[in-house]
This record gives sequence, structure tokens and C-alpha cells, in this order.
Amino acid sequence: MPPPVAQPYIGRFAPSPTGKLHFGSLLAALASYLDAKHHHGQWLVRMEDLDPPREQPGAAASILKSLAAHHLFWDQPVLYQSRRLEAYRAALNTLKPFLYHCDCTRQRIAALGGRYDGHCRRHPPAGGKVTAIRIRADAFNAPAESLFNPGQTTVVEHFHDLFLGPQTMPLSATGDFIVQRKDGLFAYQLAVVVDDHCQGITHVVRGADLLDSTGRQRYLLSLLHGNLPEYGHIPLALGEDGHKLSKQTQATPLNDQQAVSNLIAALRFLQHEPPPDVIATHNCSELLRWASHAWQRSRIPHNAAIAPTLIDA
Ligand code: GLU
Ligand code: ZN
Repeated sequence: MPPPVAQPYIGRFAPSPTGKLHFGSLLAALASYLDAKHHHGQWLVRMEDLDPPREQPGAAASILKSLAAHHLFWDQPVLYQSRRLEAYRAALNTLKPFLYHCDCTRQRIAALGGRYDGHCRRHPPAGGKVTAIRIRADAFNAPAESLFNPGQTTVVEHFHDLFLGPQTMPLSATGDFIVQRKDGLFAYQLAVVVDDHCQGITHVVRGADLLDSTGRQRYLLSLLHGNLPEYGHIPLALGEDGHKLSKQTQATPLNDQQAVSNLIAALRFLQHEPPPDVIATHNCSELLRWASHAWQRSRIPHNAAIAPTLIDA
């Protein structure tokens, strides 16, 4: 029998440059790296710099420098979303039959409690007004005339998360969602799928805070006729206060001088305890080599947990 043909694997880490790399983002970088390397795949880095008001000057360069300090080297040139606006525009053009303008106020949307009610399908804003653009969440099963008969949002995305198992996501949970913001910026949900598609990403491994985006992303990819990658969501690292570590909440940046200890802490968090002789090498590449080999998806815990405090020794 011929040997089995290896499935190509292309994974990625896609940070937003809103601050320096912290323990939570190291986990996403490391888990996506190890899952790729364990499967002899490529690991790409994409800088999601699409939202200038939220970005911090110098953060993109600092994130790349930290990744390199941890010996997490990427396999292709970094893709910057800020240079991809043409591709996002083209995707919106493909999706055009399913798009409509929405000028609902922030207050109105907040009052809906997370699920858009389709108001602007029935009451289109006056022409020429600058508005957000939404996509219908029922594009597959709604006949065109039901554009004016909302509430039929019955698309349900089913998928098997690499770590969490079977997931069911009815798009009715969010309703029609925004693909271009009123300020003209492309929405994360749109840009992420355009780039996952264009970069040929086969496996998306990231933090569980993005789990509930996955239904919308799979839906958009299907409408754009892209292949659907596998998705895997790792537990979130929580701060001492029980809240998610995030760059916006000023999670402590990693100290690149302690890359070895950072990697050991991250591996422990992911339930991969390096053996003493590997720890004794005190070398990032050795740790990563061991972990790429030892990586087991089934070891990844399902629940968010408190991150170890990484204080300068
Ligand atoms: N840029 C997103 C973030 O930093 C992650 C995107 C993704 O992994 O899909 O939260
Ligand atoms: Zn609206």
C-alpha cells in the first residue's frame, strides 16, 4: 500500500496590535504553533491591524519581537490586514445580494441585548446616508422577498471543535451582523475569513473568547465559497480578578528576558509538563521541540483558569 498522503496543514496566529504580547496571547500563539508543528504544518502570523483607534503605536513590532524571543518563528512573511483593503472590498462585492444598510443607533442596538432584530431590512435608511453594512444571517434559506419579512434566521452552523468537541451555533443568536462599520472600517468577522481563505488556513487555533464568532465566520466563508478550516479553542487565561487577560485591560506584558519560564508556564497551563531534562536545557527551541512532539489535543483543558503570575525573578 502507498504511504498515506499527508494532509497539508496551515495554521496561524492573528494578533491585533492593541498592546504588547501578554500571557493570554502567548497561549494562543503557542497552542496554534504546537498544533501546526505536531502535524508537520506551517505556522503563519497575521497582524490584524484594521482598527487604528484601538491600536497602540509600536505594538505590532513589539509582538513580533516577543514571538521571536520565544523562538516562535513564522514560516511566511507576516500579512498585515491594513494592506488588504482591496480584498475586503471585493468580498463585500461578492456578498452584495445579502447586504443592507443599517443606521440604528448604538443605544437601540444595546437595548436589543445582543441580537439584531432586522429593523433596517424593513426600514432602509435614506439613500446617501453614511451607515453600517449588515449581512443577513439567513442567506441560505430565505427567498428574496423575505428580505422584508425578517425573523426567519434559521441557519445553524455545526462543527466539531478540535478541543471542545461538537458545537452548535444558530446564527439567530446574533441575527444579521455588521461586515462594515459606520466609520468605514471593515469588521473583524469579514476580514478574518477573507484572510483565512486567502492564506489557505486549514486549522484555526485560538482563545475561547472567539468561539462564538466561529458560527458567523463559517457562514461567511460558505457564502464566499471558501473551504472551511478546522477550529479549536483553548481555555482563556484569567487574571487574579477572574477577568480575561487582554491587551486592552492592560494585562502585564511578557518579559522577553524570561522567555524560557514563560514557555514553561504556558505549557503547564495547557497541561503539557516538560520533563526535567528538557527544562534543564533552559532553551526555548528545546522546549518547543519537545512540546511539538508531545502535543496532545486531548490534554487541553476546557475551562478558563487563573493564569500563573509571571513576576520578574
Ligand atoms: N485578532 C483577533 C484578536 O486578537 C484574533 C483573531 C483570530 O484568531 O481569529 O483577538
Ligand atoms: Zn438598523
